Amino acid sequence: MNNMNIDQLFNQHFADSPAGATTEKPVVVCAPGRVNLIGEHTDYNDGFVFPMALDRVTTIAARRRTDTRVRIFSMMQDQMAEFTVDLEVAKAAPKWSLYARGAAEALRQRGLIAHGMDALIHSDVPLGSGLSSSAAFEVATALALLTVNGRTLDGVELAKACQWAEHHYAGMPCGIMDQFISVMGQEGHALLLDCRDLSRRQVPLSDPNLRILVANTNVKHELVQGEYQARRNQCRRAVEHLAKRYPQVKALRDVTLDMLESVRLGMDPMVFLRATHVITENKRTTDFAAALEKNDWITAGRLMYESHRSLRDDYGVSCRELDVLVEIARSVPGVYGARMTGGGFGGCIVSLLPEKVVPLLEAAIAKDYPLQTNLKSTYFVTRPSAGARVISR
Ligand code: ADP
Ligand code: MG
Repeated sequence: MNNMNIDQLFNQHFADSPAGATTEKPVVVCAPGRVNLIGEHTDYNDGFVFPMALDRVTTIAARRRTDTRVRIFSMMQDQMAEFTVDLEVAKAAPKWSLYARGAAEALRQRGLIAHGMDALIHSDVPLGSGLSSSAAFEVATALALLTVNGRTLDGVELAKACQWAEHHYAGMPCGIMDQFISVMGQEGHALLLDCRDLSRRQVPLSDPNLRILVANTNVKHELVQGEYQARRNQCRRAVEHLAKRYPQVKALRDVTLDMLESVRLGMDPMVFLRATHVITENKRTTDFAAALEKNDWITAGRLMYESHRSLRDDYGVSCRELDVLVEIARSVPGVYGARMTGGGFGGCIVSLLPEKVVPLLEAAIAKDYPLQTNLKSTYFVTRPSAGARVISR
């Protein structure tokens, strides 16, 4: 979407202009997708995550309406959704609109919305690939609604409002990471976030010789949501078991491997393994941030490979296609590290490598991934980018 065609697109999709539409100049906002460098399945265990905002964003051009109607045309779905924000926002079809409805409802409950909007949505974050197009969509929608209403909201509150939308409208009981980084991203930095108290550190990641390459398996196995819930339950059971011996344990964040080992007897072996992943992953995440601060890419990369092994073997959320891509990365000399990123069972890997190795890794993925899977991977080099912002108003 550029300035040239926004007017044209508005004419095309909102031409019927019923009462309430305005012809004011549209505001344009955007919110990025994210890639989590390390710290997977730690967020809902009060642990650490280490995401960065992508240079790929969901963009919304929006015109304030005089009434409380919201009309959203998604260019990704090629479809219109409509709802009103005067009373509780309906949870209605189309399904993709639930993310926007939830974001609108969260703002309505905070008394921030007087006007609806006509909005066009475009995204260059791939949808459903574990790069959090859903958080980008929620945050962009919320920011568009705030902007047309002449309101602002503190970043942490904005992230929480959008997380609420994902829980209560999209039905995904996610942690805070995705919405948080989409709001708080900073150019040239990844974000070490403590999901317990939301304390955070922006860690510089702008070495001109370093690259981050994301490769998409282009598969999404259907078990994602059920398995996600199952992992959360296993973590809860681990905490319950541990708290009998260690009453101070409120989450797996509070547990060391020694403590876990001491209560192993009588513990479901599967629950033990799941807890092992969370405990070791927390440690890897803070170690990874420390390695980046020392420009120690070798250590950082090794931690990524270990993270992948742990997610595959201990947490059981990888899949063959993800494993194939990680092994391809490992086979290319010079690549520092790679791991699955996002919830798992498909989606993307993220890899860390020197600039000069990028063409070698790209060639290896292009050649070997189809040979081993009969699928094509899409891949791109990205850089740590800014969070949600108003582009023009
Ligand atoms: P991810 O967040 O990893 O991309 P999700 O399954 O959480 O995957 O969210 C993807 C869903 O979010 C899509 O199937 C769609 O319903 C919705 N969505 C995301 N971006 C857009 C958009 N620009 N327009 C319409 N729907 C979108
Ligand atoms: Mg999502």
